[in-house]
Amino acid sequence: MKKSALAIFTTAAMATVLASPSMADGDVNIYSYRQPFLIEPLLDTFTKETGIRANIIFATQGLEARIKAEGENTPADLLLSTDVGRLEAAKQDGIAQPVQSDILNKNIPQNFRDKDSQWFGLTTRARVVYASNERVDLDSITYEDLADPKWKGRLCTRSGQHDYSIGLFASMIAHKGVEETKIWLEGVKANLAHRPNGNDRSQVKSIYAGECDLALGNTYYMGIMQTNQNEPEQQEWAKSVRILFPNTEGRGTHVNISGMLLTKHAPNKDNAIKLMEFLSSAEAQQMYAEGNYEYPVLGDVEPSEIVKSWGDFKPDPISLNEIADARKAASELVDVVDFDAGAD
Ligand code: FE
Repeated sequence: MKKSALAIFTTAAMATVLASPSMADGDVNIYSYRQPFLIEPLLDTFTKETGIRANIIFATQGLEARIKAEGENTPADLLLSTDVGRLEAAKQDGIAQPVQSDILNKNIPQNFRDKDSQWFGLTTRARVVYASNERVDLDSITYEDLADPKWKGRLCTRSGQHDYSIGLFASMIAHKGVEETKIWLEGVKANLAHRPNGNDRSQVKSIYAGECDLALGNTYYMGIMQTNQNEPEQQEWAKSVRILFPNTEGRGTHVNISGMLLTKHAPNKDNAIKLMEFLSSAEAQQMYAEGNYEYPVLGDVEPSEIVKSWGDFKPDPISLNEIADARKAASELVDVVDFDAGAD
């Protein structure tokens, strides 16, 4: 009698466990540089639709090293990251594996995914010029214009060695070659109001404070500043500028990506690919792009109203693979021209 009572208890307990979709359909583990507020609503929707439990570890640095150190024992299936530079570095470091998926290949344009299918873009952001509303009377601009001596002492940017800067400089190399880019970079450096420092938003603060008139920055920071409740002074910084999308008349504005990769030793590979495919879907693209004021990679999904309010632009259609290939040369140029020393 005792034995059968135990058996019933066990069965009941198992039934309870199995009724929980997380145990029935397994897990997927994500290491993420993208912030929890952005990712968690997506994962909740994914779990509701598939029954797969999604676990996330968030960090601001060191995730690639952690995946590498964990080796074959890594719990991580997916890495969510930003910038093609970081995604490509992870690939070169051997911590990713290729994913062959008709859904990913259909949803994500070829210029936003790795030629060896080891990383995939999910959202795009443009590297634009923030222009002072008070002191700059322009409707359009080019990156080339930033080297014009008429802007001497009026330009601000973060470090030339930051991934965002390197992406832009690499796109310049991909289009114009190293020599022309070097001359351009020297011209940009000569126009700097102060030594490159701070982040993208602090350049806009410098415009607000009257220290410079033009700054380089990523688009989504405009949305973050415009809606910032925690630091309302950032709303004032945002009001002092408008976005100019460079080279919209020509080759288009430089865009970079946030993206994802499947780790080499992913323990839940099938579930991870399901999550990757979900993240490329129209439903997820809309949530993901809206959450951080970015642009969806999926062409027929609209950006948010705030993002649309900055105006239409033509993204540079060049492949991010070409930009990744030119990053090393771009980084060397930044050192050669001593960009981070600022204007002489
Ligand atoms: Fe950023």
